[in-house]
This record gives sequence, structure tokens and C-alpha cells, in this order.
Amino acid sequence: MRTVPSSPGVQVRVPAKVNLELQVGPLRDDGYHSLATVFHAVNLTDDVRVTPATHWGCVVNGPYAAAVPTGTDNLAVRAVQLLGERFGIEEMLQIDIDKHIPVAGGMAGGSADAAAALVAADALWSLGLTRADLMGIGAEIGSDVPFAITGGTALGSGRGEVLAPVLTQADFHWVFALQHEGLSTPKVYAECDRLRVGESVPAPEPSGALMSALRSGDVDELAPHLRNDLQDAAISLMPRLREVIDTGMEAGACGAVVCGSGPTVAFLCASHHLALDLMVTLSAGKVADDVVRAVGPAPGAHVVTDLHSV
Ligand code: ATP
Repeated sequence: MRTVPSSPGVQVRVPAKVNLELQVGPLRDDGYHSLATVFHAVNLTDDVRVTPATHWGCVVNGPYAAAVPTGTDNLAVRAVQLLGERFGIEEMLQIDIDKHIPVAGGMAGGSADAAAALVAADALWSLGLTRADLMGIGAEIGSDVPFAITGGTALGSGRGEVLAPVLTQADFHWVFALQHEGLSTPKVYAECDRLRVGESVPAPEPSGALMSALRSGDVDELAPHLRNDLQDAAISLMPRLREVIDTGMEAGACGAVVCGSGPTVAFLCASHHLALDLMVTLSAGKVADDVVRAVGPAPGAHVVTDLHSV
């Protein structure tokens, strides 16, 4: 159930992401790893509403609200404050987040809210910024923010913030196995480095086979090319993820991949009906704390209600 806006403001809907491929290259001098990744947005969404106010405020509702900070460490708050500073805007905002993307689940929920807040504040303040302008500001908040603005399917390089769209022919059906306990992204990268110590890590290169599977829209062709270099590290920190993956694959998923830094596991399914069957099996097997279904690709952050102009 979505919160219905009751005051003037702008409401933006923003998708979660799964990385169809996440290749983690060597550690760079700035402390980030160079990445080659294929982002894919799915219609598991948060809504973020910004409203003019007499003081800064942030309220989070929805199933994951308790785990989300509401002060200036909330990425949506940081994003709009940065935008306001950049354009010399002194107006303060109330930010309401209807949170359905799991927190610390590897689906970039915090980055999604930052992206949504930027798109909403741009509309509220009539700044007329281009998507590229907003993505540039978003990249200062986090590497995943630009993709949450574009949505769809995109190749990410650099630390994930340099994007190029990827052509896909079909809608893909996903089931996500969620865990209440999150995994910290820096800890998962550190574990990845620990597991690879002494190995020579090649520069990441996007897989041509994955691109061609996405172009064809063939689920069976796509499934074997799902790849996440952080998966072993996430399983090392949360060993029960191995059982989650095995259970889903035995139950008929075409493919499985840990989302980003985990612990959410994404299962690719051949159809809507098979996704529903898989949800039932995973729920009955009690290997996950929650199971949700979504379809991708989904659009990036977009205004769903603009009460400002009414
Ligand atoms: P990523 O996939 O980008 O690594 P994630 O999906 O694993 O991220 P997030 O849900 O973005 O993780 O949350 C990571 C942390 O960010 C949370 O533990 C929380 O403290 C903080 N945070 C700040 N703002 C938000 C927000 N709007 N929504 C969720 N978490 C937020």
C-alpha cells in the first residue's frame, strides 16, 4: 500500500537494481575497485516525496523503515541538501520515503532514494536540469545513484558511475530471496580482497556473451552468464546464502546471482508462472526471511505525482 500524498510536493518512484554481471577489478589508488558491471533495474520500487517545509525533516514508512536513518546521513536528505547548496536554494524540505527496497540488501536502495530525491527536488524547484546534470550530482553521493536515475539496463564502468545503455529484447522475471540481516558493502569488498590475496586480478571486461544474451532476450541464454565477483565473499560472510541458491536452483530457477554485495539472492525465471511457483517453494523452504517478485528492466527515477503545479 502506497502512502497517498496529502500536501503539495513532488513524488518520484525509483527502482531497485540487480547486477547481472559484476566484475571486480584491482583496487585503485583512491580506495575504490575498478568495476565492469551490467545494472538491471527491476520494478521493486521506493517512492520519495519532497515538500516545502519550515525545517528539514525526513520520515520513512514501509516494511524496511526501521533500518533507515532519518537525519543528514539519509542519502536522500544528503542529495537534496547538496543540490540546494549547488544552486543557492535556501528552501527547506520535508522528505517522505515509502520504502519497499530492502535495506543493506545489495539492491542500492539508499542510492535509489538519493536519485529519486534529486529528480523530485529538480522538479519542485523548477531547476530544469538534464538527466546528465542530475547524474553528475548523484555520482558525488554514491556510485550507484546515476544508474537509479537512468534505469533500464546499462553497462557501468569506472567505479560503476560511468554508464552506457544496453539493449534488451524482453522482460525478465525475477524472484528475490531477502534476509533481514544486511551485509555491509565495505566489509564484502574487504572479504573479496582477502579471498583473492596473492592472485593477480585482471582488469574487468564486460562479457560479450552476456550482451548478446540480453539482445536476444533468451532467458536460457542469459542464465549461465549471470556473474558476481562479490558472491563468494558474501557467502563467506553469510554461509546460508549457499543453501538459498541451491534451493532456488533445485526448484527450477534458470539462474541465480547474489545482488551486488548481498545478501539478497536474485533468481531468474523462465516465466511469470514459474516465478510464482519459485516464490512458493522458497517461502515453504524457509531459507529466506522474505521472498518478492519483480520484472526488469524498469524505468529510472520518474515523477508519479506533481502536486506543485496544481
Ligand atoms: P549497495 O547495493 O549500493 O551497496 P545496499 O542496497 O546494500 O547498497 P542500502 O539499502 O543502500 O544498501 O543501505 C546501506 C546503508 O545506507 C544502510 O544500512 C543505511 O544505514 C544507509 N542509508 C542511508 N540512507 C538510506 C536510505 N534512504 N535507504 C536505505 N538505507 C540508507
